Amino acid sequence: MALALLTTAPSVEAAGPVPMVERPFVIALDPGHGGSNSGCAAFDGVVREKDVTLVMAQDLQAALQRRMPHVRVVLTRSGDETVTLAERVQRANAVHADLLLSLHANASSSGPQTGFETYVLDVGLAERDAAQVARTGSDAGKPGHAHARSMLRELELSSHRARAAGFARRVQQEQAERFPERMDRGVKQAAFDVLLGARMPAVLFEAGFLDHPEEGARLLDPGQRALVVDGLVEAIVDYYHQHARQR
Ligand SMILES: [Zn+2]
Repeated sequence: MALALLTTAPSVEAAGPVPMVERPFVIALDPGHGGSNSGCAAFDGVVREKDVTLVMAQDLQAALQRRMPHVRVVLTRSGDETVTLAERVQRANAVHADLLLSLHANASSSGPQTGFETYVLDVGLAERDAAQVARTGSDAGKPGHAHARSMLRELELSSHRARAAGFARRVQQEQAERFPERMDRGVKQAAFDVLLGARMPAVLFEAGFLDHPEEGARLLDPGQRALVVDGLVEAIVDYYHQHARQR
């Protein structure tokens, strides 16, 4: 029947590739800590990191939905619940997120420090992750398959790391523009578990030092926090425009 149709009425559309169903762009926001894991304490000894990260994630989600209603924004936790790092990554993977942003705030163990910084996954750890992928799975016993899977995972990881690094630089730049008087601590590499195993570009943002009397007060001030969130919105909108069409 399809052949008959083609011979009688050849159509460019019928002969072309089947268009893929548009899948929404998904951003996963991970409010660091939660539940029994409070994170660090603020300078006032009262506010905990887990509360600051949740408020920041909720504000960021609302701002993103206003700016890009067609984009789906999911949180890895929506309340004061204990969520393991593996569960956070699983939740982002389960919704096929295109970007994972983990939100944190710092405390210093070595005297007063200030500034904001963004982390991407450490290269060495990324390689270990690829090897781990190779060892697991139904045909893990077959060395050829394991090697191919390891190589594919390595390719995926290097592409994700490149995108994550670009996004991380933009995050820093947007914060630096809004807070020229604060220290730009730059983009760093680390072996954070929450970045490991993510099947999408993933970064971890440290918004500032909660234990510092001035910077901590800034992070607790809704107006100042809105500026932090605004910078993150700009970086994410830019990321969306760069990558939404090439997934
Ligand atoms: Zn933290």
